[in-house]
This record gives sequence, structure tokens and C-alpha cells, in this order.
Amino acid sequence: MIKEITAKTLLASVKQPDTWFGLKYNLNLYRGCQHQCIYCDSRSECYQIENFADILVKANAIELLDNELRRKRVKGTIGTGSMNDPYMPVEATRNLTGRALEVIAAHGFPVHILTKGTLVLRDLPTLREIQRTFAAVSFTITTSSDELGKHLEPGAPKVSERFAALEKLSAAGILTGVTMMPILPFLEDNEQNIRGIVEKAAASGAKYILAAFGVTLRDRQRAYFYHQLDENFPGLKEKYQRAFGNCYYAPAQNAKQLETLFKELCATYNLSTRMPVYQPHTTTQPQLF
Ligand code: SF4
Repeated sequence: MIKEITAKTLLASVKQPDTWFGLKYNLNLYRGCQHQCIYCDSRSECYQIENFADILVKANAIELLDNELRRKRVKGTIGTGSMNDPYMPVEATRNLTGRALEVIAAHGFPVHILTKGTLVLRDLPTLREIQRTFAAVSFTITTSSDELGKHLEPGAPKVSERFAALEKLSAAGILTGVTMMPILPFLEDNEQNIRGIVEKAAASGAKYILAAFGVTLRDRQRAYFYHQLDENFPGLKEKYQRAFGNCYYAPAQNAKQLETLFKELCATYNLSTRMPVYQPHTTTQPQLF
């Protein structure tokens, strides 16, 4: 179901310093996500989204954003993609993200986009404009395999298509990278997978890879994830239950060794393991956080 709603406010200030992307504001133009990744944390009870498959479109978002940016005194980075994917299929017709980027460009704010959507290519001209301040696009890629990706991220574009989109943005001069998280225990925590992602990211022109070797699991999110494990990988739910019980964090097997391998590979391919972030009041060159 896709339904329009009227939002009261749009930009949420980031309270703690954001060490991943250097965000100052979070922007969510939709509620719910069509990509339906089986591990998605946005299903957790604290976010109060009753049916994550229902897509709520913030119909007044563009007007609100324009008004809110007009009043902002601090030009911090606006991040989008934390609670839903700004380039999920509905965006192709609604163009909320595309129009929001135009407003952001007009106000001269920096932007970070987190996505699995190849539709981001549509907005390349606007991203080029925003880049005069700062623009970065991170593609979430947790497996190097299209086949596994189909089971884990059933509504998202194929992994190979994400790498292809990354390559196009990078070739056009946009700062791009990969968020390699989560890495799911027993499914993605192997050398071949980590090596595959790093090598493909490097070949596609990524400048950085941010990694987390494990997955967080809680309440509704865990229930959905376990249900999907039963559907797609019989017997794996029981393995998770034995290994992690009700723990919030389920680390990858051999997380330390995988992290060492990851860092070695990134050094070999000249990839940063941190994202260069926007720094106000400095030169136009993005700096490491
Ligand atoms: S794309 Fe992101 S927000 Fe959407 S379902 Fe997947 S993990 Fe959740």
C-alpha cells in the first residue's frame, strides 16, 4: 500500500557527533521501505512503524524542507537513507528525493546519500551542483553475490547493478563509496565475500568502504529476520539462537581476522576505511573525519 501523509516537521537534528558520515541533520521523505531487506533495523519497535511494507509518502515534504532550510543557521550535512531508501521504486514516480536535492542545492547545504537504489543516477546533475559544497553517495553492499543478495535484499536492485551505478557516479566525479554493513554471521562472514566486495568496490571507483562485522538484532526486527531465515535458509535460525540467544549484537565469526583482512585489502587498493566528510569553514577539499 502507498499512502500520502502530511508531515509536521522534516529535518531531525543529529544529537551525537556522527562518526560515520559527519551528519548534522537526518532527512526522511518516506516511511517504510520497498527494498524489504530481511535484516532491516527500521522494523524495530522503537521506530513505531506498524507495517514496514506500507509506504507513507510525505506529500508536503518539499515545501517543509524549503521552509526549514531557510531558517537553519548551521550549514551541516543532511543525510538521507537511514530509515528507508531514498531511491526505492516509488521514488521513480514521486521524485521526492530528486526535488528535495534541488531545494538543498538552492540553499547550498552539503549532502550524504545512503542507498541501494540505482535511480540515484537520475539526479546526477543536481548532485554535481551540490558537490560545490559537498556531496557523497554511499551504496550499501553486504554481499558480492547477486544470488545471495536476492534472498537478503529482495526488493533492492541487484548487487552488480549497484556497483555499476557506483562506477557511473564515480566516473562523473561524485565522491562515492560502499557501506559494507551488516555482515551477517554464517551467511556473509567469509573471506571470499569480503574480498569480493572490496575488489569490486575498488574496480568501480569507490573511494572508501565503511564496514561493520556483525548485525544488531532486536524485538520485531529479530522476529522478521528469523522468519525469513526459516523461509530462505532452513536450519539457520536455530544456529543463530544457539550462538546469540537474545543478545542485541550478533558478531561475525572470526570478526577480528575478517577486519584485518579487510584493512589489508583496503590498503592494497588504496581505499579509505573512513568517509571524507564535509568540514565547514575550511578549504573546499573534503577532509577525513
Ligand atoms: S534499503 Fe535500507 S531502509 Fe530499506 S529495507 Fe533495506 S536496510 Fe531497510
